[in-house]
Amino acid sequence: MAIGGGRVDACSGRTFSSSDPFTGEAWATFPDAAGEDVDRAVTSARDALGGPWGDLTGFERARLMRRLAALLERDAERLARIETRDSGMLLRHVAIALAYLPEWLYFYSGLADKLEGSTIPGDKPNFLVYTRHEPVGVVAAIVPWNSPLQLLCWKLAPALAAGCTFIAKPSELTPATAIELADLIDEAGFPPGVFNVVTGAGSATGKALTAHRGVDKLAFTGSTATGIEVARSAGNNLTRVSLELGGKSPHVVFADADLEAAANGVALGVFAHSGQLCLAGSRIIVHRSVHDALVQRVAAHAKTIRLGDPADDDTDVGPLANQTQRDRVMAYLESARGDGAVIAAGGEQMRDLPGFFVQPTVLTGVSPDMAVAREEVFGPVVATFVFDSEQEAIDLANDTEYGLAAAVWTKDVHRAHRVAHRIKAGTVWVNSYRVVSPSAPFGGMRASGIGRENGLEAIAAYTETKTVWVETSGETRDPFPKS
Ligand code: NDP
Repeated sequence: MAIGGGRVDACSGRTFSSSDPFTGEAWATFPDAAGEDVDRAVTSARDALGGPWGDLTGFERARLMRRLAALLERDAERLARIETRDSGMLLRHVAIALAYLPEWLYFYSGLADKLEGSTIPGDKPNFLVYTRHEPVGVVAAIVPWNSPLQLLCWKLAPALAAGCTFIAKPSELTPATAIELADLIDEAGFPPGVFNVVTGAGSATGKALTAHRGVDKLAFTGSTATGIEVARSAGNNLTRVSLELGGKSPHVVFADADLEAAANGVALGVFAHSGQLCLAGSRIIVHRSVHDALVQRVAAHAKTIRLGDPADDDTDVGPLANQTQRDRVMAYLESARGDGAVIAAGGEQMRDLPGFFVQPTVLTGVSPDMAVAREEVFGPVVATFVFDSEQEAIDLANDTEYGLAAAVWTKDVHRAHRVAHRIKAGTVWVNSYRVVSPSAPFGGMRASGIGRENGLEAIAAYTETKTVWVETSGETRDPFPKS
């Protein structure tokens, strides 16, 4: 692990292994952190807050962040190979995502020296009133296995800009790149203890972090069920919390849409990384008149996808993260079949490949009450639903407990805006899908989470506003004079 600027083992000496999802073989060993290790990390992060890091100006923090960004740029390809090995994500995709990741540090480094408070024009002439944006303190980030380094840096960049210190708890399935990041942070010259990593299972290490009184803010990405647990635990100490959770995101495809573009958008959003994406567009809500034409295109796309070794250039989609995940996806398909859904493409697991694969699958004849229509499958499975009117399309899109993302496919600009405004989701793409940027807020409504990452507003989650009242007249006045 990385605690206080050094590499340490767990106090217990216990370790666990991380496996390559393609070969199924263990390839790296990490310390298994327990409560006492979490204590050490929290102490280290608290000490760093009060140490040299706490005295740095925003200009100095920004300089360190830019150095870190340059190191990430230098090592993006190396880190991508490690991430692929650990997570089974396609190397081609990870390499692009990690080459882009330094932009998060550049973007937020540009804010570190612009955390301006304001002077408040008050109703009391003998007071100067102003605000300061101070760091919230020690941030603990708990992230899942599907885009480990990216989701970590989405939290780290605004936290560093705000002046916080940081403890990362990566998933026990994918801890490797968080440790690599700790090395780059040391190399960039950050003071010891600003960035710490504890490795271990969510049920032990993660739980200990969420219950720790020394943590000021929890930034969580993961499933809705775990997010609720995290929020409950945080509530006991009134720890601030932001939650990026699951989704059941719809593509709403109108009759006038460019069907080829829509089919590509659907495929990009739900088959990439075997559908293990929070923003997987797993429901196609399509106008009756173009249903068959769209299904035909998406199914054709699904059938051309080459499954295989995620490190291989010819592969389009790599394996699911583990056997549990594969069995879960297959159980959803079995239940959908049993409920009368029709398989237009895929539907089977791939037994002739090592690793855990399910074919990209397109389901039709799905009714909104089926499990596959309501729950996050987290696999390469998309289900279609038919509408006749715009209102019906909006109702179907909103017929979910989630609200992470959506797409509207139409050539009618008025309808595009009208529908985008009425869909309950944190992000709506029009004639596109899965585009993100450090400058554009991202996050969920309803069961998809609380708070936003990215964009100017994300930094507010890592600061506390302090109001300072300064008496300027020098006279002693009784604020409650007798009449
Ligand atoms: P989990 O909720 O199971 O795990 C997420 C993280 O929480 C992991 O680090 C896990 O550790 C940890 N954890 C598990 N239990 C606890 C606990 N009781 N207390 C504290 N931490 C705990 O999610 P998955 O790993 O299955 O990730 C997939 C989910 O993440 C999907 O639902 C997906 O939609 C969501 N997600 C959301 C995104 C968004 O931006 N909205 C982006 C990406 C994913 P460990 O793995 O070691 O057990």
